[in-house]
Amino acid sequence: MRSPIAAAAVAWFRDHGRDLPWRGTHDAYRIWVSEIMLQQTQVATVIPYYTRFLERFPDVRRLAEAPEDEVFRYWAGLGYYRRARQLHSAAKCVVEHHGGQFPKDLTAMLSLPGIGRYTASAILSFAYDLNHGIVEANTQRLYARLLYWKEPLQTTKSQNALWEFAEGLVPKQGKGTGKINQAVMEIGSQICTPNVPQCDRCPLVPFCPTSAKGHFDRIPAPKPPKKITELREAAALVERDGKWLMRRCQVGERWAGLWDFPRFDITDCDSEAAVRKALANAVLERFQQSIDVEDCVHSLKHAVTRYRITLHCYDAKIPTRRKVSTFVGSQGGDAQWCDLAQMEDLALSSSGKRVLRWLKKRTHSTTD
Ligand code: SF4
Repeated sequence: MRSPIAAAAVAWFRDHGRDLPWRGTHDAYRIWVSEIMLQQTQVATVIPYYTRFLERFPDVRRLAEAPEDEVFRYWAGLGYYRRARQLHSAAKCVVEHHGGQFPKDLTAMLSLPGIGRYTASAILSFAYDLNHGIVEANTQRLYARLLYWKEPLQTTKSQNALWEFAEGLVPKQGKGTGKINQAVMEIGSQICTPNVPQCDRCPLVPFCPTSAKGHFDRIPAPKPPKKITELREAAALVERDGKWLMRRCQVGERWAGLWDFPRFDITDCDSEAAVRKALANAVLERFQQSIDVEDCVHSLKHAVTRYRITLHCYDAKIPTRRKVSTFVGSQGGDAQWCDLAQMEDLALSSSGKRVLRWLKKRTHSTTD
């Protein structure tokens, strides 16, 4: 039997649910792509990317066969490229180990790269109507308010309570789980918003102690503030004959798979001289290439997860009598020399794109 909360949510959703491109399909591949894109990205931003991505990669086989660089190009602009890499790896797994069909089993789903409990349960319930509850950012806020849960939501105890509540909303067997999950997600994102929930429009108001007490400012408990770490990094803009040295970030590094100017941590360098020396040594060590580091020509700030980074860009040249390392350009894509137009075609890190924009401006202003 359906719980009264689930029944009220589904009745409301029938009249008020938004018509989104990934709703109304039972294609697990399409649902999976939408779920991965929607992680940390707003619906309105995702829609055009989702449409373009599916035009190019209409099924899991086409995605699995595509080169990683091309997947990144269709992802560029959504950020968090780790998601794109995992999407690509998971597509290969589905093709190699599951005959191109998404598994219908939670454990098998969880073994795919980038698929956690929420994504697995969402795909299984939306595509196959299997009986799994869901907990993600919007529903966990909603459930916390329905439970009047006072503890921070990040603890294991809280997560267990929220998942238990989610599983209690869906039937143990029979149909309807997909719709229930979509309904509670929609109420969480559209009605039970973080700061000013619209209780007067909410179908769950009769079940909600938080609304009755007016305690939305304390339920859920505010997150503890993120500890920010400041870093200083330097990038070498190594130029030769109108081309710059570019490097693909490796697995285990920030932005793995994306391209960037060679950059290194200089947080411990206490002078300009120390920075130049560290940069020259780092390029020599990584690329077997001697360089002369010139002026710091540009600086920018950007943030990645809990790091706030100041990036200083230094012009650098290859000493005239030194030969250009044969390593660069001969190792199958780890590093290459690119002119500005070729850089445009690379899947660049977000700060790499900003440096490229600046470099283009500088190059055009000196040639005008
Ligand atoms: S009644 Fe208000 S606080 Fe309670 S679930 Fe609905 S919107 Fe959220």
